Amino acid sequence: MIDYTLAVHLLMEDIVARVRALAHIDLQQVLVFARLGRTTTHGAYATCHSLTLPDSEPAYYFWRDRRTGALSRRSEWFVTRSPEVRVGGRRISHLVSIALPRFCNQTLKDTHKERVYERGKEWLAKLDTIVHELYHVDPHQGGIRRSVKTDGSPAGQTHTPQFFREVQCIVRDYVASRPDPAVYEFLALDFDGLVKRHGGVAATTFRDFPAFPQRYRERLAEQPRGPRAAQIVPLSPRTARRHFTEADLVMRQFLAASTRRI
Ligand SMILES: [Zn+2]
Repeated sequence: MIDYTLAVHLLMEDIVARVRALAHIDLQQVLVFARLGRTTTHGAYATCHSLTLPDSEPAYYFWRDRRTGALSRRSEWFVTRSPEVRVGGRRISHLVSIALPRFCNQTLKDTHKERVYERGKEWLAKLDTIVHELYHVDPHQGGIRRSVKTDGSPAGQTHTPQFFREVQCIVRDYVASRPDPAVYEFLALDFDGLVKRHGGVAATTFRDFPAFPQRYRERLAEQPRGPRAAQIVPLSPRTARRHFTEADLVMRQFLAASTRRI
């Protein structure tokens, strides 16, 4: 079977080694894992998750009385924090999740990419997605890149036209650097093609699949007194996992609509 997440990681290593715009990324701190994403359902092909975002400000949920507008219920106070993932003792700064088999089956036609890349080079759609996720890695703070507008001022949203254009430039720079086709040719095959060629598609996942490390809420040990509400709702005692290591990583085989542990 092809180890798809390993193939993506090796390609990422080649990209950051060849393209100056992404040279700040240390791929030892980037973990690629797979989620199930059916080809026929809508959804992202891949996602970049930062694990180094700071704790949120203390907060609580609340409900208001429709009629009076008064605070009828609120939750206990909490902060939202990032989980810690360590592989080989090294702290991971970003997770990149790949939706399989959807990622393998994307084509230029599905997206804005049709107008941008040469017809027939469907693999460029997948390369664009991979570069896109890498481009989310912030060069300064290590979190998620803040996008700018064409005039250089900060943009309210992450995915600005400028963001897409810069990703396209990096894709072209990488291709122009004449990389070894052995590094990227797996992108040329769709899911069925990969199964025919390799006998199956395998990928790194987290042991609690489909769960993966996500930001979690932690109850403040010292609860502020206010604000007053008729009812204070306790936070769910079910606590999310906070620490993950390589022991939490397992390989799964991905099929068209399901997965199985290898
Ligand atoms: Zn994005």
